[in-house]
This record gives sequence, C-alpha cells and structure tokens, in this order.
Amino acid sequence: RAVLSQRVRAIKPSPSMAAKTRVDQLRAQGQDITDFTVGEPDMDTPAHIVEAGVQALRSGQTRYTSSVGTRALLQAVQAKFRRENGLDYGLDQLVVGTGAKQLIYTAFSATVDAGDEVIVPAPFWVSYPDMVLLNDGKPVIVPCTEADGFKLTPGLLENAITARSKWVLLNTPSNPTGALYTEAELRALIEVLRRHPHVWVLTDEIYEHLAYGDARHVSIAALDAGIAQRTLTINGVSKAYAMTGWRVGYAGGPAGLVKAMGTLISQSTSCVAAMNQAAAAFALSADQACVAQATALFKARRDRIVALLNAIPGIRCAQPAGAFYVYPGVEGLIGKKTPDGRVLESDLDVSMYLLDEAKVAVMDGTSYGLSPYLRLSFATSIEQIEIGCERIARACANLA
Ligand code: PLP
Repeated sequence: RAVLSQRVRAIKPSPSMAAKTRVDQLRAQGQDITDFTVGEPDMDTPAHIVEAGVQALRSGQTRYTSSVGTRALLQAVQAKFRRENGLDYGLDQLVVGTGAKQLIYTAFSATVDAGDEVIVPAPFWVSYPDMVLLNDGKPVIVPCTEADGFKLTPGLLENAITARSKWVLLNTPSNPTGALYTEAELRALIEVLRRHPHVWVLTDEIYEHLAYGDARHVSIAALDAGIAQRTLTINGVSKAYAMTGWRVGYAGGPAGLVKAMGTLISQSTSCVAAMNQAAAAFALSADQACVAQATALFKARRDRIVALLNAIPGIRCAQPAGAFYVYPGVEGLIGKKTPDGRVLESDLDVSMYLLDEAKVAVMDGTSYGLSPYLRLSFATSIEQIEIGCERIARACANLA
C-alpha cells in the first residue's frame, strides 16, 4: 500500500511557493531575475511593531497561550473589527491562528464532511481548492469572467448552489485579480444566500487595506444580521503590516464554529507563538499611519505597472481596485512563435517564455483557474516594475 494518503496525493504544492523556489534557484545560479511572483509586501515590518515583539520576548511572553489566542490579542481584534468593519463580535466569537491560511483550513476541517461542496469563484487564491480537497470536500470552481470584473454574480452563485453546498468563498480584495466587491454587489449576493440558508460564507479579507481610489472595502457580515450568523470573516496582520513571517491571522464568526476551530487548533498547533501574538495586538492597536503609507505606495506602483503593461502589444491589463496584483489578459500572445520556433499555446507557455527570454518571473493564470492570463505582483519597487516591464516588452517584440 502507498505510504501517502489519497488525500495528500490529490493535492499539489502551492504554485506560488514553487515559483519562489524557482526564482531563488535561478538567482543562486547568478541569473538576474525580475520577480513579479511575490505574494507579500516588500517592506520590513514597521520598527514599532518589531519592538513590541522584542519587548514581549524580554518580558517573558514565551509560553503556550490559550489555543484561541491571548486575551490581549482577542481584545485588539474585537476593537479592530468594530472600528474598521462595523462588526460587533463577542470575545467568544473570535479565534487567532497561524496566519489566515491556518484559519481557512481549520474552518473547512471543522465543517466539511466527505463530499460536501465549497463554491470557489475563479480566479481564486491557489490554496483554496487544495484546502477543500485536503478536508475531503469538493471544490466547485465557478469561472468569473473579466466582463464581470472577475467577480461572482448572483446568477453564477445561484447556479452553483446544490443541496451539498456548505460554503461559498469570497475574497475581497482578491488575489489574484485585485477585484473588490462593492456594497451593492455584496447585497445582491446576500439576496441569493437568503434563499439558501444552508450555505455559509467564508470571506477572506486579508487585503482589505489595499483599496485604491474610490474603492472601499466592505465586510459582508456587516451588511446583514442573518448572513452574519453564517459568515466567517477571515483576516490577519500579514499584508496590512508587512508581517507575513510572524504568522498571525484572526477570524470572527458564530461562537459554535469558532469554538470548534479552537479545539482543532488545540489538538494540532496548540497556539500561535506568544510573542508574535503580542506584536500583532500592538500592530492592531497602535497608530495606523503605516497602513495608509503602504497603501499610497502600492497605489503608485499599481498605476505604473498597469500603464506599462498596457503599452505592450499583446498584453491587456485591467486596473485592479485593490490588493497588489494585476491579472493581465494575454490572448494576444497565444499562437505566437518564439525566436527558437516554439508556439506559445497557453499562459503557462507565456510565463515560461518570459522567464527564459526576459528573465522575468510571473505566475500563469492556469494556476488561478482562469486563462489566458498572467498574475504579476506589484509588491516591488517602481524601479523593478520599470525594468521588468521593459524586459517583457522586448521579449514580446521578439515573438513572430
Ligand atoms: N488569503 C489570501 C487571498 C492570500 O493571498 C494569502 C497570502 O498570500 C493568505 C490568505 C495567507 O495569509 P496569512 O499570511 O495570514 O496566512
């Protein structure tokens, strides 16, 4: 018998993590790669937050904590949800995890029975379908076209719901498209969900602060008390405070679900590192100027990368409302011939060509469930954006 479970054989390593490994290897070989695959802010954690972590270590916050999180962090999360999202959770409705990622996984573990369906709008964050599979659930992928802003519409949602539907996943602003649901769009989805009271909503709001121009992030649970009773709101400090390596996420939802998630954490990872929870509590409670500064920086980068990509024949780039990704369409490059005579047949081919020919690393849309597109992260300097786009432009000009 195979040593590995069927469950684990059904999944693949995260493609974005694999891309990071590939870029690291090429750089180790001395290649000068412009990397647009990065899924994290490029700045360091703000110094005042680092200092809070150091202080926590020095003051002896070095032990196990409650599996749902320290009281200090839970209170900071409670205040944050009230202040920024209009969400009024009791402390028993909150749970802290090792990143938003663990909480999403744990939510599925706590609720999904074999064969239960999870509706995953595509393009999706690469981990969602595999996390569903790992919990013996069935991801139901719903392609959302660029014409619909890469967003789930009421009609698409209605068609996807069956008696086995357990969850619908929302990710706003989205990785990989930057799409952000407006209040009106969320209310239209709520109308559908009202007719299907067995369907729960998992809303991943990890990029909430990265909303540009007039775009405003809205939490679906704040719009309707009935929906809030079957919504799990997921967030974390990774993207808001450049704290990806600290591994602190948090979630708010119905007490019964949250309690089950805490039990699962108590039997798996016990708790998030105590000093990291202290730093996260500080980040959420301290002056928020660093968040606005980061948003302004990312907006300038977004504007630049969208303009530069749109100037390249064969590439068409919609302006994302949020997050730090663009998702340009590359149908104009499909069917073209490379200088050594290969035909680009898919966005995967395009991404490999750009890596070989332009020394630019991008993600292929295939990994995110909607082709032919690429995903480029603009969590990098304007200088790197200019160099990278110049390289892409040259490589595209060499296609016949
Ligand atoms: N959700 C989305 C949509 C993401 O893009 C990411 C990270 O790339 C995460 C969650 C993971 O966040 P965390 O670092 O809190 O686990």
